[in-house]
Amino acid sequence: MEIATKEFAQVRDRYAPSPTGLQHIGGLRTALFNYLFARSRGGKFILRLEDTDRTRFDESFVQNLYDTFAWLGIHWDEGPGTGGSAGPYVQSERLALYKQYAEELAARNKAYYCFCSAQRLEALRAEREAARSSGTGYDRRCRDIPAEETARRAAAGEAHTIRLKIPLTEERGAPPVTVFTDQLLGKIEWKNADINPDPVLLKSDGFPTYHLANVVDDHLMGITHVLRAQEWLPSTPLHVILYHAFGWEHPLFCHLPMVMGQDGKKLSKRHGATSIDEFRRRGYLPEALINYVALLGASYEEGKDLYTLEELAERFGLDKLNKAPAIFDYKKLEWYNGQYIRMKDDEELAALALPYAQAAGLFGLFGAPEDAGFPAGAAQKLLPEPSPEQRRIFVQAMALIKERISFLHEIPEKIRYLFADPALPAAEVFFPKKADLAAAIKLLRLGRDLAGPMASVSEEEAEAMIKDAAEKEGVKLGDLLMPLRVAITGSRVSPPLFGSLRILGAERSRMRAGRALTALEAAVPDGMAAEPHEDTGH
Ligand code: GLU
Repeated sequence: MEIATKEFAQVRDRYAPSPTGLQHIGGLRTALFNYLFARSRGGKFILRLEDTDRTRFDESFVQNLYDTFAWLGIHWDEGPGTGGSAGPYVQSERLALYKQYAEELAARNKAYYCFCSAQRLEALRAEREAARSSGTGYDRRCRDIPAEETARRAAAGEAHTIRLKIPLTEERGAPPVTVFTDQLLGKIEWKNADINPDPVLLKSDGFPTYHLANVVDDHLMGITHVLRAQEWLPSTPLHVILYHAFGWEHPLFCHLPMVMGQDGKKLSKRHGATSIDEFRRRGYLPEALINYVALLGASYEEGKDLYTLEELAERFGLDKLNKAPAIFDYKKLEWYNGQYIRMKDDEELAALALPYAQAAGLFGLFGAPEDAGFPAGAAQKLLPEPSPEQRRIFVQAMALIKERISFLHEIPEKIRYLFADPALPAAEVFFPKKADLAAAIKLLRLGRDLAGPMASVSEEEAEAMIKDAAEKEGVKLGDLLMPLRVAITGSRVSPPLFGSLRILGAERSRMRAGRALTALEAAVPDGMAAEPHEDTGH
């Protein structure tokens, strides 16, 4: 399959992760930009598993990859599980192919068999280190072994690798230089003498190295654009040489701006969560992650912050990329998360928050404590389902807290008081500013009498009702609200009181206020009776 470099019949790009770790922000950014670019050009986005590094491979990382992208709602047009005409899309299922291509290069004198043992290479490295030699990598000892000898030794079963012959001969007096144009960084020139000397293409166990498998697959899969992290830039001259050796056109390369922490160092665990799994567990929404990550190193429209995946796909282009490194700002991501939480309706938000509430024991006690806070997994089945009444309260509670949270995991603690009577705090907590116990008791008595009626009307009517009472009694509205708020919610700072009363209902509201009043009255020191006891329960 030959690719014209100028006008492509169809854009084909890919995300080509090595399953040697959890999916993280950097990987998501690469995947997302490839996805958006393909979408923006009506092309195809391909997933390819580069699983040839068997020492660091783990099946759980493959599962994590699938789970992560399913959760994010990012789908590939071709890839493992999805299929496509250029498969298989898993490199460990393509081993024969790489061997065939490496041998073909050797037969054409663009690559060569190397019989150096691992011990020899190690000794070479140690020797150079001891001599503080500036030379690095392989000393090209096997580069010029005559073809017949090579064939004889290989046929006799002598272990060997296949190495790429980096062109070194002078052409018209200039040392060989590899040149390509990066779509973001412009013209890149690399002296061949500075490229890793004759890198291995095929290892002695028959597995390809990253370079060989990556180039062969990008070619065979018809990849037109390679958008990848900047850390791969040093490999690209070598890839360009490989494409030339094969006689293939290389795809267009675009190395994406780096992602840094706020200290200007490459984003890593030191800065906080970086694995998508961790963000997911902490209650981030996929929309927020996608929106924020799509802005890491790209700008779309002045003054517009919120974009859906579709809106991003409409706007994305390589001309939207910035050269400067992107700074990952956790605060900014938190802001996005809050925005997307507020866009959910109560039912949707309740569905998202349900596992967190179950794990936090809001609907009763739960199973394995190590699963607390983690919304996915088998143990979820052990968690109690809310009763219909609990479900009603839970959904209605969403309206109370939506504006006040940035993360799903904050929800259970904010609304626990709606499910179980809160512990009564110390008497002082009930006192409005400058008030004492006697004043607090008087105010709470008023509040207690209003609690039932206020719970039975709309929030506006409840507000009018208590304003009225405050005026009639000559007390400040805030002073009247404080002890009632503490009685109902257990805290001076809480979600809106009127809404809480409505959700709890008249009976529970009155009961809680009465219970708190009894406690305050019991706190009055002996011989210092508070006001005459006129509590008749109305
Ligand atoms: N397997 C490489 C990685 O893990 C792919 C790099 C590339 O896109 O060429 O990122």
